[in-house]
Amino acid sequence: MSKTPQNPLVDTFHRSVDYVRIAVTSQCNLRCSYCMSEGHEERSDRFSLLNKEEMITIMKVLASLGVTKVRFTGGEPLLRQDIAELVGEAKKNSSIKNVGLTTNGLLLDRFLPDLIAAGLDAINFSIDTLDRRRYHAITRRDEYLRVQKNLDKLLGTGHIAVKLNVVLMRDINSDEISRFVDFTKDHAITVRFMELQPFDDNQIWRTGRFLGADKIQELLNAHYPELQSVNGSATEYFSYTLPGHNGSIAIIPAFTRNFCSQCNKIRITSDGKIITCLYNKEGLSLLPLLRSNSGDQALANLFRTAVSQKPEDGKHSAKNAVRTSMSEIGG
Ligand code: SAM
Ligand code: SF4
Repeated sequence: MSKTPQNPLVDTFHRSVDYVRIAVTSQCNLRCSYCMSEGHEERSDRFSLLNKEEMITIMKVLASLGVTKVRFTGGEPLLRQDIAELVGEAKKNSSIKNVGLTTNGLLLDRFLPDLIAAGLDAINFSIDTLDRRRYHAITRRDEYLRVQKNLDKLLGTGHIAVKLNVVLMRDINSDEISRFVDFTKDHAITVRFMELQPFDDNQIWRTGRFLGADKIQELLNAHYPELQSVNGSATEYFSYTLPGHNGSIAIIPAFTRNFCSQCNKIRITSDGKIITCLYNKEGLSLLPLLRSNSGDQALANLFRTAVSQKPEDGKHSAKNAVRTSMSEIGG
C-alpha cells in the first residue's frame, strides 16, 4: 500500500508538486535543429552526472513528499544503459503510480522488451516527419528507417500508452498533419502537435518556422471539419477525436498559452539540479548532499526550499530566453 505523505510539496502559490521529469543524460544521438547545434557539447563532466543509486534516492525522497508521477527524459534517455533498471526501481515504489519515458525512439529496438518487463506505463515518442529526407534534414541524421521500424514495433505491443510528439513547423512538416492523424484511426494513441519553444541555440523559432496553436487548429479544422472535443491532459489544451478513430489528437500551445497556474512539476537535470520552472536557468544542486551522505531529510528540505522558490509565472518574469537547448531539462 502506498503511504499518504505527511507534508506534501506545495509551493507559495498553493500548487502541489506531484510530477518529476528526470533528464537522465544531456547527450543525444540526434541533432534536431530546433534543439541542439551540430557541435552541441555536454555541459558536465562524467563525475558530476547523477548515477543510478543517486537517481533512486531522489525518486524515493520525492515519492515520500507526494510525487506520484515520474518521466525519464534527456537528452536521449535510451543512451543510458541502465534505463530499464531505473524504470524498474521507480515502479517498485508503491507511491509512484505512473512511470513514463520521452524518447526519439532510435534505440527502442534494443530496450523495448526490458522496458515492458520493468513495467513502463507510457512512452512519448518524438517524431516530426514521416519522410526520410525530411527526417534527415530536421535531425541531421539519416536514421528514419530504424526509427520508423521501432515505432511500428511499439504500436504493435499494446502494453504501453503511446503519445507521438510532433513539433509542427511552417513549411517544414506542416503539410503532414493528416499523415500523423491517420495513426489515430487504428491505434488508441494520442498524436500531439506541439508549438516550437524558444529554447535552442539556433533560435529557429525566430525564422518564420513557428506555427502557433491557432494556426495548427485552423489547419486541423480544414482537414477534419468533423473533429469532436475530448478531455486531454493539462497541457493538451485542445484535444479531439474523429468519428471511427481509436486514438486522439491534441494541440500543445507550449509557447502561446500559459499553464503556470496548473503547473505540478519539477525537473531534475542530469547533473543533479532541481529546476522548478522551464524559464529558470539555474537550480539548486542535489549533488553536495547526495555525495556527503547527508540523508533523506536533508534532501527533502532542499526540495522544499527549491519548491518555495518556484515562480508564480516564470515566462513573464524571465528577462531573456534562458536556455540554449531543451536537452538540459528534457522538455
Ligand atoms: N530526446 C528525447 C526526445 O526527443 O523525445 C527526449 C528529450 S527532448 C528535449 C523532449 C521533447 O522536447 C521532444 O518531444 C522534442 O521534440 C521537444 N523539444 C526539444 N526542443 C524543442 C523546442 N525548441 N521547441 C519545442 N519542443 C522541443
Ligand atoms: Fe535529441 Fe530529443 Fe533534442 Fe532531438 S529533441 S536533439 S532527439 S534531445
